[in-house]
Amino acid sequence: MEDSCDVIIAGSGLAGLLALSRLSREKPDWTFTLLEREPWHGGRMRPSLESEGSRSCGLQSASSELYDFVMGTLGPQNANELIQPLKSFGVMIGQKIQELRFEQLTTVDMARAIAGGAATKDWAAIEQILGAERSEDAFNQLWKGDRKSAALVPLEQLAHFWGVPELTGSSIRPLQNGFRDARKGLWTGRWDLLFDEMLSTLRFENRLKVFNRAQIMSAKYEEKTWTVSSTNGTFNSPRMLVAQSPWEAILWLSKDLWPSRLINIASKTKPVSLVMLSELNPFQGLPDVLFVTAEDVQVISLPGQICFQAPLNYELTVQAPAVGKTIKRLKRARKKLSLVYPELGPEGAEHMALLSVGWTHSIHPPEYKWFEKLDATHVQKKHLGFAGDCIGAEGSGDLNLITSVQDACSMLLHG
Ligand SMILES: Cc1cc2nc3c(=O)[nH]c(=O)nc-3n(C[C@H](O)[C@H](O)[C@H](O)COP(=O)(O)OP(=O)(O)OC[C@H]3O[C@@H](n4cnc5c(N)ncnc54)[C@H](O)[C@@H]3O)c2cc1C
Repeated sequence: MEDSCDVIIAGSGLAGLLALSRLSREKPDWTFTLLEREPWHGGRMRPSLESEGSRSCGLQSASSELYDFVMGTLGPQNANELIQPLKSFGVMIGQKIQELRFEQLTTVDMARAIAGGAATKDWAAIEQILGAERSEDAFNQLWKGDRKSAALVPLEQLAHFWGVPELTGSSIRPLQNGFRDARKGLWTGRWDLLFDEMLSTLRFENRLKVFNRAQIMSAKYEEKTWTVSSTNGTFNSPRMLVAQSPWEAILWLSKDLWPSRLINIASKTKPVSLVMLSELNPFQGLPDVLFVTAEDVQVISLPGQICFQAPLNYELTVQAPAVGKTIKRLKRARKKLSLVYPELGPEGAEHMALLSVGWTHSIHPPEYKWFEKLDATHVQKKHLGFAGDCIGAEGSGDLNLITSVQDACSMLLHG
């Protein structure tokens, strides 16, 4: 038997749930079907705390813009227990950890902590470039003119935290986004739990059906109706929102149904993966974010969980040696940290996860003009919307997510 509704939402990650909240509020008479491959909702924003299966720490540091968008979309609620601002960060040099306030992350204090007095000389220039409107040339000059500037060492550490694996050849925009977001403050916590109340209210009102373990296998659009087949049933609706990464949706949505510009985005950007060791650990004594500079590793502390991570160009993740080397760095960082904090306990309880594209794509600089011309009408249709961190021209996952949810909803509602 086929199930019908007004909108099928394919994926219950952050984008799908935000869209569900907006659409259901705007159209109180619409019904929704949420199809999700996993047994739970949340996608990549959810930390997987189960004792088996892949484990990650999920969306750790959302920008204030994304935080405001989530809160504004869900309406007034007390989120203080679930989501908190990042308050501290630390730098580990040798066996010494220097802790600073999170507001110092992009300042000369951080530069000094990472690379000593020599790095402070040029830091003001780097701050200026990161804060300026258009400074791609100035950024490139920095490389060509003074490649050995000590200030590039702290910049590289920050870049890795912002999901930029290599400074060489990187566009300045993801760095500028990271800089701007860090200055405004970053937020972390159990984002997935924020949506529980909305989901149960809509289900209680018989406006929402949620199908977990429903991996979508195919979709066709005939006579203004979508027919979506999944491992947990077949569903019909006049509208569908694809709320998952393009490389996942391309497996079941045939290419001729995609807006061509959306396919082009993938070829004009560089995706990023995260290699991560994550462990359940009750130890609370670490800064919220810690740079283990000698290993180029960031350690993120969440309640009950510690994650060791390093970004890697997505293309490199198909090469076993590159991943293997990164894992060794993560393991060495863990070892070094446990020398300083024996309370961390023995190694070996960790779980390794190779996360395809934890962050967004970064745009190849020559393609900026193409991206600037991209607008919602190139991507969104009234019967088919796309939302997620890789949908759009923003060069920042947070902004792509916000813009694509807004655009897709407005097209599905009024297109
Ligand atoms: C470890 C980690 C750290 C991160 N850190 C940051 C950070 O610091 N800052 C930041 O901005 N972003 C970060 N991100 C990225 C952030 O989590 C994502 O931008 C955001 O959660 C994406 O939401 P989404 O809804 O677009 O996609 P997803 O969360 O990927 O949601 C897609 C959903 O679709 C489901 N799905 C996929 N295929 C199918 C199918 N065939 N059938 C049914 N369902 C399917 C998936 O299971 C998933 O639930 C991080 C991600 C990870 C993994």
